[in-house]
Amino acid sequence: MHSMKVRTRFAPSPTGYLHLGGARTALFSWAFARHFGGTFVLRIEDTDLERSTPEAVQAIIEGMQWLGLQHDEGPFYQMKRMDRYSAVLAEMLGAGTAYHCYSSPEEVEAMREKQRAIGEKPRYDGTWRPEPGKTLPAIPADRKPVIRFKNPLEGEVTWDDVVKGQITIANREMDDLVIARPDGTPTYNFCVAVDDWDMQITHVIRGDDHVNNTPRQINILLALGATLPKYGHVPMILGADGEKLSKRHGAVSVMDYPAQGYLPEAMLNYLSRLGWSHGDDEVFSMEQMCSWFNLDHLSKSPAQFNPEKLAWLNNHYIKLADNKRLADLIKPIMHEAQFDGAPDLEAVIALLKERANTTVELANSAMLFYRQPQPEAALLAQHLTDAVRPALQAFAAQLVTVTWTKADISAVMKSTLAEHGLKMPQLAMPLRLLITGQLQTPSIDAVLELFGREVVLSRINQGL
Ligand code: GLU
Repeated sequence: MHSMKVRTRFAPSPTGYLHLGGARTALFSWAFARHFGGTFVLRIEDTDLERSTPEAVQAIIEGMQWLGLQHDEGPFYQMKRMDRYSAVLAEMLGAGTAYHCYSSPEEVEAMREKQRAIGEKPRYDGTWRPEPGKTLPAIPADRKPVIRFKNPLEGEVTWDDVVKGQITIANREMDDLVIARPDGTPTYNFCVAVDDWDMQITHVIRGDDHVNNTPRQINILLALGATLPKYGHVPMILGADGEKLSKRHGAVSVMDYPAQGYLPEAMLNYLSRLGWSHGDDEVFSMEQMCSWFNLDHLSKSPAQFNPEKLAWLNNHYIKLADNKRLADLIKPIMHEAQFDGAPDLEAVIALLKERANTTVELANSAMLFYRQPQPEAALLAQHLTDAVRPALQAFAAQLVTVTWTKADISAVMKSTLAEHGLKMPQLAMPLRLLITGQLQTPSIDAVLELFGREVVLSRINQGL
C-alpha cells in the first residue's frame, strides 16, 4: 500500500507533564508506524525558552517509557538544530521565498489598526515584500529585520485530512508569516515544517488545535520543494460533562496514573478507544492495536473521557497480571505491613485481585493479612457470644489436626455448625474479627487457609 516507508513523529512542547491528549496522539503515531513496519520519531519542540524545562522533557520521556511507546529515532531537540534553521532561512532568502522586513512592531500595529478601521482582516500589508518592478523603501538605520515567508497571493491550500476530510484555505486568508525574529531565531511553524521535511515524516498525526497551522506549514514545505506528509488532526478529549478535559475531571497527567494504581496496558487500551475504533472491540492488546491501526477509523467528533471505563479495563488487566508483578507493584506502598511470618503476598493477591480496580485498592485490601488484628470490643461482644464460644472452641480443636486445605477447613466448619445448630455467619463473623480484626473479608475458609494453622489457632485461642 505504501511504497514509501512510513515515518511518524510525536513532537511535544516540553512545557509540562505528558497529558492524556498528548499520550493518545503519541500512541496513534506509534501504532501507525508499527502497523507498517515504519519509524516513530520523538522530537522535542523546546524553542519556547520561557516555558520549556528539562523537568518537562524528563516527564514526557518517563510517561512514554511507562506506556512502552518506544521511539526509533530521537529525541531530537529543536534547540540543537538552530544552525540548520539558519541555513534554510538563508536558502529561502536567496531563492526569494522569504524576505527581510524592516517594519517596526509599531508600524505593523498601525497597519492593523487601519485595516480594522475599514473592516478588513488585520494583516501585514506587504510593505517590504519584494515584487518584480517594485521599489522597496529605504532601510531604516539601526533596525534589525524579521524574516517573513513570501506566502502565495493567489490560489489555495488543500489537503485531504485523514480525520477531517478535505480542508481548503485560500492563500489570501494568510499573510506573510514571520519565520525569524529580529535576533535571527526561527519561529514555531517554520521549525515544524523544516523538521518534518528533514525527518522525512510521511504522516503527521496531531491534535486539531494545530489545524490552523497546517496551511502555513504546507506553504513553507512547498516553497522548500518538500514532499508533503499526510495530515490527520485528531479531535480533542472532553470530560464526561462535555467540557475540555481538565484537572476537574481527575488526573490529566499520564504519570499520575501509575501512582493511582493503573497498569500501562489498561491506559493504552483505554487511550486507543478515545477517538478510534475497531468494530465493537473494547479489550485488546497493543499487538492487536498495531495490527489494526491504519488511520481508517478515526472519529471526527471529540472523544469523552470516562474514568469508570478506564477503571473497568484496569480491573481486567489486574486480573490477567502475573501475581509476582503485582506483588512488586504493591509491596512498596503497603506501609506498616508486617511481612514476617505472614501469608505469602502472591497467594493473597491471587485471592484479592478479582475485586481490585487499581493496585492501590489491591494494596489496601491486602493489608488485611499484614497487620495485627485489633477488633473493636463492641463488635466482639456482639459476635463472640456465649452461644458461639463452645462451637468456636470445638472448631479450633479440630483445626489442630485437619489437613490444611480450604476444602477440608470448610468441611470441618460445616460439621461444627451442624453439631451446634448454628448458621454460617454465627461462626464466620467472630472468626473474621479474631483473625483479621474486620467483619469484611473474602470467603473465610480461603482467609484461614492463607493465614496458616499456627496463626489461626493462636488468634482464636487468644480471643477465647
Ligand atoms: N509541539 C506541539 C505541541 O506540543 C505539537 C506540534 C505538532 O505535532 O506538529 O502541541
